[in-house]
Order: sequence, then structure tokens, then C-alpha cells
Amino acid sequence: MSFTHHSHPKAAHDFLKNTERMKWHDDALWFVRAKRDRIAQTVPDWEELRNQASAIKSHTLSNLDAYLQHFEEQAIANGVTVHWAADANAHNNIVLQLLQKCGAKKIVKSKSMLTEECHLNPFLEKHGIEVVDTDLGERIVQLRKEPPSHIVLPAIHIKKEEVGELFHEHLGTEAGASDPQYLTAAAREHLRQKFLAADAAITGVNFAVAETGAVVVCTNEGNADLGAHLAKVHIACMGIEKVIPATADLGVFLRLLARSATGQAITTYNSHFRKPAPGTEMHIVIVDNGRTTQLGREAFRNSLKCIRCGACMNTCPVYRRSGGHSYHNAVAGPIGAILAPNIDMKEYADLPFASTLCGSCSDVCPVKIDIHNQLYQWRQVLTREGHAPAGKKAAMKVMGNVLSSSGKYSFSGKVARKLLKWFPRLAVNGRLNPWGKQRELPEVPEQSFREWYQQQSSKKQPK
Ligand code: SF4
Repeated sequence: MSFTHHSHPKAAHDFLKNTERMKWHDDALWFVRAKRDRIAQTVPDWEELRNQASAIKSHTLSNLDAYLQHFEEQAIANGVTVHWAADANAHNNIVLQLLQKCGAKKIVKSKSMLTEECHLNPFLEKHGIEVVDTDLGERIVQLRKEPPSHIVLPAIHIKKEEVGELFHEHLGTEAGASDPQYLTAAAREHLRQKFLAADAAITGVNFAVAETGAVVVCTNEGNADLGAHLAKVHIACMGIEKVIPATADLGVFLRLLARSATGQAITTYNSHFRKPAPGTEMHIVIVDNGRTTQLGREAFRNSLKCIRCGACMNTCPVYRRSGGHSYHNAVAGPIGAILAPNIDMKEYADLPFASTLCGSCSDVCPVKIDIHNQLYQWRQVLTREGHAPAGKKAAMKVMGNVLSSSGKYSFSGKVARKLLKWFPRLAVNGRLNPWGKQRELPEVPEQSFREWYQQQSSKKQPK
């Protein structure tokens, strides 16, 4: 499962070719955003909750080493085995060794963006282990051999008719059937067999409570619980930023998470896993994979506050109209665009530019991450580090030169007014300016504002 394109503009261009899909995708996500707004407005202390969540995360990030150590001690005391992974490779190898040790060949996995980030599925499959994603949306994209396109709604880019065709092919449902209830029942039947046959279960972690050593996993389908309770081995994979100080803090985050994600008052299952049941094993793999580097970047460390609600994606006009796969990264949208360059600046240099900087992402973020400021700051870092496209760099150099001198500015204005009059299509709507393809300029004026102002002022001078 990999991304076809490694350029946001190119992938977005392809997504936009299917106008009907783009419109439907845009409307579907806007519907979720509106639902989030309505439910947030029913909570009188909503802004206070956001402030509190942000403050708890700030405090935890400032004391991350201590909280992680405390979490590890508590988890070990509960009978859980804790593993530390410096990067994706180490994470995948730890999971593989655990599975090999217990002879596991069939795995069920609930939603975990960390395992997507580490490309765990293809790694395990390469070693002869069957991994079945049990979240319905994730199972749909897995059967299509695609990555998820959204962190909360992994199959939001796929229509029910397409799911019908997919299930007909893989699960033997009736040809042409697209009723969501019928298709969901078929998926349930299919997944039940996988749960019963699984040797081990892998889950993600939404919150790791330092005070108790418990991990909390939030799902709407109960698939994490079913997997972890039926299998003999439960492996929970978490990034280092998932730790929170105490159980009391959960009240703040759980109220924000479901409302921001889907507009629900509460996620259906908020399951606390504290210790292995008798005769079973529980492991927690704690992963860095670039997070401490991000923590050390003063301007970007706040991005580690993210609780993966997806609200910034649902509101983003660029994400809604370009689809999650156009970000060619496990986490798409505005938050993905500020996390990805930390892992590989060259590979993800395009992402911070895939934004209008309207600031809507920061407005909806439940933990108050200044996402649009960080997008803007990444652009500066990437340009400084030599990762901006050559054309853009040259254009900015010329712009900087012209804008730093009033003489050059007014001369260029004169030339541009003449050229635009005669060659508007060439200059503005031509191949050299993709931004102008869908835009028309207003009629070009005869004179600049400055000339007009001087003219008007001289008319008013007393004779
Ligand atoms: S950055 Fe904020 S809005 Fe976006 S997914 Fe994370 S918590 Fe949600």
C-alpha cells in the first residue's frame, strides 16, 4: 500500500479531474465540520476546555521524560512488558519478534496511525504474517490496497457503490448492492471470522496515563476491544507524545476528541487496558520516530499536542478539494503538513505550501495548535534549507528585488499594465502560472493607484 504521487499539486490535479467526486468529498467533510460546530456550541465551557487541554499537553511535553518513565514503571508493575523503539524500523522489528515468539500468523489490528506511519502492514506481510485491519473504513481501503485518506474517516473518498463492488469481489455480497446497512452486516460477518481466528491483536493508543500505566483506546466499532480480548497477545503501539499525566485529564480530552472528530458527544468505546488477563500477554511499544527532533524545534513542538481528531482536515478548503492521498503521507491535511517535513524535509517540502493559510485549522483545533503559523514557518525553513522548488525560489527572488525599490516597483507596474493589456492569457492564464488557470484578473487599469492619487491631489490644490 503506497502513494502513487509524491507531489501535492500533481496529485490534487488528478483528484480534481473527477469533479463529481471532489464536490461530494468536499460536501461530506463540510457536513462533519458543521456537526462539530453545532455540538461544540452546546458546551458552555468549550473554549475553557481547549485552553485546559492545550495547557495539559504543554506541561506534559515539557516533562515528557519524567512522565514516560513514570508510565513505564506503572505499566511494568501492572504486568505489562514495555518496549522502546527509536524509529519505524525498530518498531516493526519489535512487533515482528513478539509475533514470531508466540508463533502468531494471523493478526487483527484496530486503527493506529502510528503503524501506518511505520508501514507495519507491508513489513509483517513480507514476513508471512496476515494482518487484517478491523476498523470498517480501514478494511475497505486495505481491500483496495490503498492507504487511509483521513485519520478518522479512512475511506471518506470512496462511494458506497464502490464499496458494494469491492465487497462483491472480496466478500461475495450481491452484485450491485450498495445499501450501507447490508454492506456493514457483510463486513461484520467477515471480520468476526478474522477476530476468532487471530493469534494476536495490535491496537493503537489514544492516551497513555502515566499515573496508572493504562492505555486508552477510542473506537466507535468496539473492534479494538474484541481483538484485544479474544487474542492471547495484545500489542499496543504508541508515539511518545500520547502520554498524559493522570486519569482526571481524560475528562478534558475525551470531551474534546469525539466532538471535534465526528460531532458526537462521546466516542462509543473508550476502553482502558491496564493489565493482561490471566494466561495472556500485553505489550506496549513506545515509539519516537522523529518526535524528539520535533520536540527540539521550538517553532514546531506544539504539533506534538495533536490528539488526531481530524477536525483540521474537515475544515481545510485545500484538503476537502484535493483528497487525503494528495498529501502522500500517513497523516494528511494541515497537521500532516507540519509533521511530515520533520521526518523528511526533501520528500515533504511541498506540503506546507498546500494551504491558503486561512487559519481555519487553528480555529477548530481542540488543543489549540497554531497550525497555520507553523505552515508559514515551515515554508521559511524549507526555503532556507534549499528545499523550495527552483521556479518558486527564482520568482521570489525577482519579487523581493522589485518590491525593495520603489523605482523598480513603479517601472514594473507600468510594464505589467501594458503587457497585461495585450497578453493577459499568456502572462496570467498561461502554462507558466498554474495559479491563474482557474482565475481571471479584473480589468487592467490605465494608471497605478499612486498615479491616480497624485492626480487627484493635484486637482484639489488651491490655484
Ligand atoms: S492538529 Fe488539532 S485539529 Fe488537527 S487532528 Fe490534531 S488535534 Fe485535531
